[in-house]
Amino acid sequence: MSDFATSLAQVQGQIDQACQQAGRVRQSVNLLAVSKIHPAESIAAFYQLGQHAFGENYLQEALEKIEQLQDLAIEWHFIGHVQRNKTKHLAEKFAWVHGVDRLIIAERLSNQRPEHVGPLNICLQVNIDGQESKDGCVLNEVADLVEKISRLPNIHLRGLMVIPKPEHVQAFAMTKQLFDQVKQYHAQPELWDTLSMGMSADMAEAIEAGSTMVRVGTALFGARDYS
Ligand SMILES: *Cc1c(COP(=O)(O)O)cnc(C)c1O
Repeated sequence: MSDFATSLAQVQGQIDQACQQAGRVRQSVNLLAVSKIHPAESIAAFYQLGQHAFGENYLQEALEKIEQLQDLAIEWHFIGHVQRNKTKHLAEKFAWVHGVDRLIIAERLSNQRPEHVGPLNICLQVNIDGQESKDGCVLNEVADLVEKISRLPNIHLRGLMVIPKPEHVQAFAMTKQLFDQVKQYHAQPELWDTLSMGMSADMAEAIEAGSTMVRVGTALFGARDYS
């Protein structure tokens, strides 16, 4: 097996095991392969192995890869910080945007979403443990944002996204609780089905708490070389 085939099988095995331990069905957890910094060739290699959903953090880099890989039926997710003046590209090129934390961003994405591609899936990013340096809305804004964003026409508000502090094990359970509490504010509650949480180091804990989408980079592609 190639290195990528091995790492993909290992990550799938970890997800299988975490689902078994949590008493969850395997299909309730999706794997998002986080490909930031890695070249288009590596994405294409994972695609050939059956992995079709990829997450990118940096817009310019992502747009280049999307262009290079346009012949593949990749589902592109933007998981980086969303800047207000960059929303047009996100609305046009991506299937999902995870880092939405303000109403103005969601409104712009809705307005700029081309009609022929269908609604844009978004997750509301919550700063679940109140980190000063982190993006994400604060806890007491969530209900109001769910109510307003879920009424935008070209958006499907799918759920919450968090990046807790590494040692903060309670954060995943807190997010799951919040996810259940705010569902009642959603205009189309049947769309509220996604908890985007868990990365290479903590995917098992996130699945235990109810994650439906783990965002995994290092465990699939290897370490990122920023040089
Ligand atoms: C880079 C990144 C990941 C993947 O992290 P790994 O530790 O490499 O698995 C997941 N989510 C977000 C938001 C990221 O920026």
